[in-house]
Amino acid sequence: MKTAVISKDKIVIKQAPDMTLNGRQGAVVKVLGCGLCGSDIVKFIHKISKDGTVLGHEIVAEITEINSKTNFKIGDRIVTSHHIPCGECVYCRNGNVSMCKHFKETNIVPGGFSEYVYLSEEHLQNVAHLKPENLSDIEASFYEPLGCCVRAVKRANLRGNSTALVIGLGSIGILMAQALKAYGMEVTGCDLIPDRVKRLRNLGIAAFNVKEMDPNFEADGVFMTSGSDKAINTALKHVRNGGKILVFSSTPNNWGYANNEIYYRELTVLGSYSPSPVDLQDSLNLLKSKQVKVDGLSTIYELDDIQKAFDDTINNRIMKAYIDIG
Ligand SMILES: [Zn+2]
Ligand SMILES: [Zn+2]
Repeated sequence: MKTAVISKDKIVIKQAPDMTLNGRQGAVVKVLGCGLCGSDIVKFIHKISKDGTVLGHEIVAEITEINSKTNFKIGDRIVTSHHIPCGECVYCRNGNVSMCKHFKETNIVPGGFSEYVYLSEEHLQNVAHLKPENLSDIEASFYEPLGCCVRAVKRANLRGNSTALVIGLGSIGILMAQALKAYGMEVTGCDLIPDRVKRLRNLGIAAFNVKEMDPNFEADGVFMTSGSDKAINTALKHVRNGGKILVFSSTPNNWGYANNEIYYRELTVLGSYSPSPVDLQDSLNLLKSKQVKVDGLSTIYELDDIQKAFDDTINNRIMKAYIDIG
């Protein structure tokens, strides 16, 4: 089977032995497509993942071989995520599932940018779902990234009708803004790129160019989906005293929020990383009910052109890449 692996500064296509269950529990799935996540880009450009790694986790797939106690069967089209919390450790018990050791250790094998993938029985039982019939493969591929946003909205725990500002309207910002709206928030988005501002407006959500933001605008919660260091100042400027800043992206210089700003203004700064099975279920419901719309966000690439998908994402030429593998 074909896989896309990291090889020094490139993503290259390599042949790997065909995937079979070979007596294991779980399923082998044929990957129909896989979204390219911002975290894949970070792992690639900062060399966090070793050579030979197959990235990709936002998969839509069809079951081709199965040995499972679940009701899934051959031919089922499914969505899944890659990590599963143990449910028992100190992190899981406190709701920080993405800090769980088991969560970090579990994965789909070898990774989503591959013609076939092995899913464990745990994946099938906890994070895999039948693809809703009213969703295209591309739409369904937003199951995991939207799950991350749902988790952020829940972690911020804002009261109903609170004002929320989303800084950074890349694909994640567009998902976050819609998720916040679905959870009853009054949402505004901002970005420096006019097309992105327009895209959110077209979804019926207020959006502004950062430079044209009313300097007196204040939000109860600020959601940082921008990976820019400068966005930190924008967040501090627009969060109200006593408000919350939800950190949802790494930044190049690892700058922080000033101690005295947090203290005197009684701010809450909190992070949100990867979703729990419940967040994922909620994400699928938002997609299915079309409360979150994702059409037109993705640009499609063949697996052979995956390097271009990475390059175009890194250079902000596209919103989001979807690798068509089916
Ligand atoms: Zn992702
Ligand atoms: Zn755990």
